[in-house]
Amino acid sequence: MADPVVIIGSGPAAHTAAIYAARAELRPVLFEGFMAGGIAAGGQLTTTTDVENFPGFPEGISGPELTDRFRAQSARFGTVIHTETVTKLDLSSRPFRYQTDERSGEADAIIIATGATAKRDAIPGTRDGELWQKGVSACAVCDGAIPMFRNRPLFVVGGGDSAMEEASFLTKFGSKVYVVHRRDELRASRIMQQRAKDNPKIEILLSHQVIKVSGKDVVQSVRVADLKAGTEREIEAAGLFFAIGHVPNTAFLEGQVTTDEQGYIVTKPGTTQTNIPGVFAAGDVQDKRYRQAITAAGSGCMAALEAEAFLAGH
Ligand code: NAP
Repeated sequence: MADPVVIIGSGPAAHTAAIYAARAELRPVLFEGFMAGGIAAGGQLTTTTDVENFPGFPEGISGPELTDRFRAQSARFGTVIHTETVTKLDLSSRPFRYQTDERSGEADAIIIATGATAKRDAIPGTRDGELWQKGVSACAVCDGAIPMFRNRPLFVVGGGDSAMEEASFLTKFGSKVYVVHRRDELRASRIMQQRAKDNPKIEILLSHQVIKVSGKDVVQSVRVADLKAGTEREIEAAGLFFAIGHVPNTAFLEGQVTTDEQGYIVTKPGTTQTNIPGVFAAGDVQDKRYRQAITAAGSGCMAALEAEAFLAGH
């Protein structure tokens, strides 16, 4: 028998959808993935430090603790959670069919909340088989505390809130943190910029670009170009962290759901409906504009309510 609602994802969108669907007695089955997108279940919030802008936590809450709470709340209302990655969907007719690394099944409605994954740039020296994971990372919070970075200079690439946050976090470990941004103006919010600028261990290199990362077995130096002056210099460093944005996790859909040119699922404005009736999308996988935990949670709620209405009408 087909499950009424299958939810794919593990962040705020997925679990809010699960809480609403479970309380509506739709017996949701949620696939939280097993290292899907290269990170543990819980999604991007598990790679962040303090979340200070999610209402209800005036003192702030750590990203992993917040996701643990989301999960506990959806389990409390009866969501069946599998730590498996959905590898394939067949959305050509209803019930839809899904396949994970361990099972296959059917669903009357599907909510896709697979989020987005941190981007990397193919700078020489940073690629797989070079110094990737040997001092080069795309997650300061995951990797920053390892001993090789202690009291050594570190680099962060990017100019958004993630770059500011990761740089501030890395000052706990490194002797100095360089932030390299390609333009002469940061993208980050004012408050995050100010925090980074006020931190004596952070040096922001505007209009700069990392052109090479070198080292024998681990990162030893980073070569940067000053784009305005047209000069280059080599700086000693033990690590480089990318904070250059994200790509949506939609490859497994194999083109069955309409996406935009960057791969984000297109939803009907003001709804979570995709081009396929009965398939809904919530959270960062369909949102390149706001990308906040609270907006993801809000769209997860919408997806569950829309799935409930869809099932009632079919
Ligand atoms: P983002 O805002 O998209 O910023 C990405 C940054 O990386 C931009 O500065 C961009 O440069 C740069 N970049 C992109 N591709 C690059 C490349 N190939 N080489 C060099 N630089 C590159 O991404 P984000 O910082 O991850 O933030 C995503 C969302 O999460 C935002 O809405 C942000 O507000 C939110 N967020 C919030 C918090 C918080 O409030 N605590 C923390 C983290 C993130 P350009 O500026 O030139 O485009």
